[in-house]
Amino acid sequence: MKKVSTLFIVIPCYNEEEVLEETTRQLKIKMDGLIKNKKISQDSKVMYVNDGSKDKTWELIEDISQKENHFTGLCLSRNRGHQNALLAGLMTAKNYADIVISMDADLQDDINAIDEMLEKCNLGNEIVYGVRSARLKDTWFKRVTAEGFYKFMKLMGVEIVFNHADYRATSKRVLEYLETYEEVNLFLRGIFPLIGFKSDIVYYERNERFAGESKYPLKKMLSFAWDGITSFSVKPIKMVLNLGIFIFFISIFILLYCLIVKLLGNTVPGWTFTTCSIWLVAGLEMLSLGLIGEYIGKIYRETKARPRFIISRNLEEEKKKVRQS
Ligand code: UDP
Ligand code: MG
Repeated sequence: MKKVSTLFIVIPCYNEEEVLEETTRQLKIKMDGLIKNKKISQDSKVMYVNDGSKDKTWELIEDISQKENHFTGLCLSRNRGHQNALLAGLMTAKNYADIVISMDADLQDDINAIDEMLEKCNLGNEIVYGVRSARLKDTWFKRVTAEGFYKFMKLMGVEIVFNHADYRATSKRVLEYLETYEEVNLFLRGIFPLIGFKSDIVYYERNERFAGESKYPLKKMLSFAWDGITSFSVKPIKMVLNLGIFIFFISIFILLYCLIVKLLGNTVPGWTFTTCSIWLVAGLEMLSLGLIGEYIGKIYRETKARPRFIISRNLEEEKKKVRQS
């Protein structure tokens, strides 16, 4: 019989004292149900990660972890932002769990999708992405900006799953590989598709925040999007280079045009020289910038030191194991 997996649910919390009690109540029911139905093991837990909260969040987490069997906590030394807090939680949870699910403290992500995520994990998927089905409950502004964000990221050459945030289930093996991505500017939803392995999607409807305020105001969202693009794509550099090449070619036509106008005698002295110089020099400058950018792009890729490949199966090793057993 297949061993029942141990599940850890990692939840980063920043100033979440208003929601923790209700979140714990709902997750406790969920965890108890899953354990009772033998979907997950007795050792499964919800792990709250306190991201340097200034309110009573950590005291609450300590209290909950003492009273409840299936709840535990992790405390960062200071506020490091959602992505870093999540990474800290994932890297810790992978030592105890077979499957780790990440979600937000405000339960905007429907916890009933967990059952389907687990089923898909049992079917051999190593990453199951939670994808928002309709965004009916978002405001018009949030929906348009958020969906625009995914489309723009795609356009900029970043491979991400449309309408997927950080609600996902991952296997222990995937998290072990995540550890080999040593970059400091984190954009987790861009890294997981790079890791690969068999993956699937679970659709869910995202609710409104039931208490407290969003910790992602527009300013933070924009800087997050900027981080996502500049951490994953060298397309903007390529655009500069292409623009340089384009302007350089245009300048050849401008040169011809200026000569014709000059030969027809419709110019003031110096005009031809000035106009031609501006176009030629601007084109060359842009081209050189793009060229330097190409090298910087290469350095940038090297400094990330990302793994160049990840092996999914090695039949030789598998055969050896079969022979040994
Ligand atoms: N969060 C965090 N550190 C931060 C900001 C946010 O750990 O510096 C957590 C927060 O407690 C929540 C999750 O990240 O669990 C998502 O934040 P929020 O729900 O405010 O974002 P929104 O859903 O509005 O995009
Ligand atoms: Mg939220």
